[in-house]
Amino acid sequence: MKSHSEKYDLIVVGSGPAGLAGAVFASDRGKKVLLLEKEQRFGGKIPLSGGGRCNVTNVLGAEEMARAFGKKERFLLPALRNFTPEGVRRYFNDRGTEIEVTDDFHCFPRSKKASDLVKVLLEHCDENGVTRMSGTGVDEVLIADGNIQGVRCGNRTFSGKNVLLACGGKSYPEWSGSEKGYELARQAGHTITPLYPAMTGVKCVEEWPKECAGISLEDVSCFIDLPGEKMGCRGELLFTHGGISAFAVLDLAGRVGELLTKHDTVPLKLNLFASVSAAEWQERFRKFRQEKGKTPAGKLLAEYLPKRVIPHLVPAPETPFARYSGENAKKLLENLTALTLRADGTENWHKAMVTRGGVDLKEVNAKTMESRLVHGLFFAGELLDLDGPCGGYNIQWALSSGALCGKSVN
Ligand SMILES: Cc1cc2nc3c(=O)[nH]c(=O)nc-3n(C[C@H](O)[C@H](O)[C@H](O)COP(=O)(O)OP(=O)(O)OC[C@H]3O[C@@H](n4cnc5c(N)ncnc54)[C@H](O)[C@@H]3O)c2cc1C
Repeated sequence: MKSHSEKYDLIVVGSGPAGLAGAVFASDRGKKVLLLEKEQRFGGKIPLSGGGRCNVTNVLGAEEMARAFGKKERFLLPALRNFTPEGVRRYFNDRGTEIEVTDDFHCFPRSKKASDLVKVLLEHCDENGVTRMSGTGVDEVLIADGNIQGVRCGNRTFSGKNVLLACGGKSYPEWSGSEKGYELARQAGHTITPLYPAMTGVKCVEEWPKECAGISLEDVSCFIDLPGEKMGCRGELLFTHGGISAFAVLDLAGRVGELLTKHDTVPLKLNLFASVSAAEWQERFRKFRQEKGKTPAGKLLAEYLPKRVIPHLVPAPETPFARYSGENAKKLLENLTALTLRADGTENWHKAMVTRGGVDLKEVNAKTMESRLVHGLFFAGELLDLDGPCGGYNIQWALSSGALCGKSVN
């Protein structure tokens, strides 16, 4: 065993947004920091994010952003207030990588290059003298009498007064995702809540969506149709070989996975044209009958729906609309505005953008990000039992929680 004599104030495990922010903010305070990354490249999942552009944050204030994480809102507040969404934009702008607000909400680097964000953070680390090592995976956290001592990487040990576990989640294993962070947390005595693939597609029992794979609808709203479930989302819907995907369902997938541990299937209700009400459709139907009564229903609906989905959603598509039965009209209306699909699974870890579940929040101090079990052990980012919706929430959380750790370490 080769032991490095140097003692660091902070050893950061993982170089995603959480780890980099931890390294930057601790080293800004003069702390001696070692950054360890198991992959050959630094940056964690930043380069993958937002299709390579990185939706780094959005325009919400800290409180509103925390609310979007649901019941765990209170845990996020100290970190988000410390390094706010606006603070993140200012940080990158001040360091020469301009962040632009697109569609009045989402924030991306103007260069459209996620790698520019990694560059800024790494340059900041280098300016502050952070020692960084890639291709160096941590295998063990070293603890004695409830105090962190350092880490072990293969046959090398590094000693540190504090260790930040910022290992990210399990998703995208071909890039950097792994269970290693959870193993390290467990080894330190922490509880890991069940893990589910989140922000991904949903599989469904019905066969017809699979036959329509590749087709998309522009503005669909979707919610989980179970008592007490409030979650819903809206946006593009894509039919896939497994069922459905894209923005209309991405934010629901993690919850669907959780619910499937208790239910055989999870009913989803979809309004295929989120901005068109049932009353508006009925008015359209009335006009079809009056003005285009001889035209087959399928042909009339082809103005709104892609051709391949018509046989699945329009009952008796060959029937002229004037002869359409009340029952058919009712079914059509239901298919358009309150279509039920039964989810029986989600896409796997290879397609999930985030991990639901992780280090139990009860065991972490939200004001510092320090473990309540081991003195000097810190957590940040996706490794914790927190996941936000699409739209810059997860990277903001990673940056804010890492920054709070950086500001808290002694
Ligand atoms: C395709 C895709 C697109 C996304 N788009 C967005 C988006 O636009 N906006 C957004 O907000 N979020 C997005 N996300 C989610 C976001 O990227 C993550 O939530 C965020 O990167 C988590 O940050 P993190 O620092 O906690 O972990 P990560 O970014 O996953 O970084 C963790 C790092 O730790 C390293 N590591 C793990 N274990 C060890 C070990 N034992 N020793 C050393 N190193 C270790 C890993 O190799 C990795 O580099 C996207 C995710 C994916 C997969």
